[in-house]
Amino acid sequence: MRLTHETYISVLSGVEFIVTTQAFYCKLCKEFAGDASCAEHHLQSEHHYKKYIVSAVIKFASQFNIGLY
Ligand SMILES: [Zn+2]
Repeated sequence: MRLTHETYISVLSGVEFIVTTQAFYCKLCKEFAGDASCAEHHLQSEHHYKKYIVSAVIKFASQFNIGLY
């Protein structure tokens, strides 16, 4: 087998350099953020804001037994 540059990329070389670490995770969007700055950026995103509004409406409706259609 002839090894090319593409071959080295596809064999997961350097696995020993990957370590576990703490990160931030948005349970609403199911997205990871690697650090506080990325987490803050995520919280300011339109994507997150829309999900937050939908979840707030659903939570409000369920608390007051209001049916959504
Ligand atoms: Zn989010």
